[in-house]
Amino acid sequence: MKASIIAVGTELLFGQVANTNAAYLSDKLNHMGFDVMYHFVVGDNPMRLKDKLAEAFKDTDLVLTTGGLGPTQDDLTKEIVAEYMGAEMYLDNRVVDDLTEFFNRHGGNMPENNMKQAYLPVGCTPFYNASGTAPGFALQKDGKTAICFPGPPRELKWLFENGAGQYLEQFMEKKMFYRVLRLIGIGESDLEMLLMPLIDGQTDPTIATYAKEGECSLRVASQRDTMEEAEAAVEEMIAKIDELAGNYIYSYNNEDLNEVVVRMLKEKNLKITSAESCTGGLFASTLTDVPGASDVLSTAYITYSSESKIEELGVWNEIISCCGVVSAETAEAMAKGALERSGADIAVSVTGYAGPDADEGHDPGEAFIGWAYNGEAGSYSVRTDRNFRKWNRNYFMLRMFRTVYLLLRQNTQK
Ligand code: ATP
Repeated sequence: MKASIIAVGTELLFGQVANTNAAYLSDKLNHMGFDVMYHFVVGDNPMRLKDKLAEAFKDTDLVLTTGGLGPTQDDLTKEIVAEYMGAEMYLDNRVVDDLTEFFNRHGGNMPENNMKQAYLPVGCTPFYNASGTAPGFALQKDGKTAICFPGPPRELKWLFENGAGQYLEQFMEKKMFYRVLRLIGIGESDLEMLLMPLIDGQTDPTIATYAKEGECSLRVASQRDTMEEAEAAVEEMIAKIDELAGNYIYSYNNEDLNEVVVRMLKEKNLKITSAESCTGGLFASTLTDVPGASDVLSTAYITYSSESKIEELGVWNEIISCCGVVSAETAEAMAKGALERSGADIAVSVTGYAGPDADEGHDPGEAFIGWAYNGEAGSYSVRTDRNFRKWNRNYFMLRMFRTVYLLLRQNTQK
């Protein structure tokens, strides 16, 4: 089914607010197998909204709107959509109760104009809103469907996940199954080249590559008559992808690398430590973003200066003066020192030039990652592209995670 999205709000046209709602809805619709044909943005202007509604419905049977469901006079989306679909308005008692309770809970009297939000088009399917005051709704007429959402992204997401998404399933002609694989250590174009034999001429399952910061994702999707068929087709394709690119895949379920690493450490009952220079604790911070990280991390070091590398990690002064503070030798010594001093089972370290400015004549973008695990230790250099400068630190942090991931995976495969 073809779909359009209309985002309503003058602030969007002014560039004060980015239209993230359209991106969110497009992504959701796309994943469900709808063809999103148009995105429109209109200000809070009834005539222009009416025009865009007509334009959208000319080519597509499903139109999603966001914004303009608030209590103020310029919030007119609901009224315009109802008028366009030929529906009167009615006072919805459930919304009246919800609003009354909302204002009681927030310790205030309901402003009179909020009652405007309790009116909905006759014949609509309401999506009651537990995350705000404005309900969303769906309205059908002559094979055309409009679904209206409030503007605040949190409310939009809540309503999509708690009603609207399910409502949309009735329009899905086929069942869709997809899996998102996450890869690191290969760029998007190299990945595409590698998978070309599978991608070329393939209509179902589809394989789409996406580049993210320092990593890639692959979305493998199939639409079949039954969910079982779609799932089997996706799994079969993933087995083929595995043969070609398995080395780079770290998750078959769209998990973040930090989540995967914490899960693996837990499964193996291992403790990790880190010694970070140029990333300033980013690795440890990203690790602790994962719930339950306390089971796998007890100590992490931020050793920015040479002195702290010597004092806190026991790196020999000679290593730093002979090889340099940014060197493979220093990175390895940092990892060994962190392992020894913390009593952890696995250590990872980084020393490098993250920039943005050149440091002692060195271009930002060069770093060394060190590791120590299972009686062995090592290090290697990572270098980012000039264009990467803005997020060198992030990239180095991801490479630290990848190093740990590969060490743990190797051990699993033995
Ligand atoms: P409210 O009850 O808050 O008035 P509403 O449905 O009338 O809800 P708007 O007033 O249009 O929504 O928008 C509320 C806020 O939501 C905006 O200030 C903006 O921050 C955010 N917002 C609106 N539209 C979008 C959009 N398309 N993408 C991202 N954020 C948006």
